[in-house]
Amino acid sequence: MARCDSALARNKFANECAAAVRERFLTSPDRAAKIRICLGERILDMEPRDEEFMRQAIAEAVAAREDGEVPIGAIVVIDGEVKGRGRNQVIRSSDPTAHAEIVALREAASAVGNYRLAGATLYSTIEPCAMCAGAIIQARIERLMYGAQDEKAGAVDTHFGICAADFLNHRVRVEGRILESECREVIQSFFREKRKTNSQQSERCESG
Ligand code: ZN
Repeated sequence: MARCDSALARNKFANECAAAVRERFLTSPDRAAKIRICLGERILDMEPRDEEFMRQAIAEAVAAREDGEVPIGAIVVIDGEVKGRGRNQVIRSSDPTAHAEIVALREAASAVGNYRLAGATLYSTIEPCAMCAGAIIQARIERLMYGAQDEKAGAVDTHFGICAADFLNHRVRVEGRILESECREVIQSFFREKRKTNSQQSERCESG
């Protein structure tokens, strides 16, 4: 019994240590910032049509909302031309990978006939998640412009720092918080509306 207890205690201690390390290493909000400062990449390098393209990404997000999906939109631009458009469609497609960025990357890769999208800029209304940031690296996207930070799942600046990781052989020039309040409002209004509908439904259930 004593041996069992001490094994349990060791296990608990190991789990706590692992959790503490993970916490410090992966979720420290300044980890990504530190990497970027080390690389000297913290420069605000907006290009003249960035706002116009971000507005097109916002239009995709609004269209996703009309489809009942969490409203996130993305656009891939190469040489000033839109090559791919994406809106979140995980429900409609029954596809957990159908995030706006992935949909836009697939369309752009198919349009240029190459899975590498050299010289491309990806505009996304929300900070990409780990899956999308990984796909951005795989596609060799040159620039990523995103709107609102995602405190929960953002894997570019909020957590992980994937687009600036020195163990990957491709780095992406990142600029966040482009038209941030508009991008945030699209998603927040969707969840506000959803909460309202849910509470009205539960009120009806209670009164009925
Ligand atoms: Zn994603």
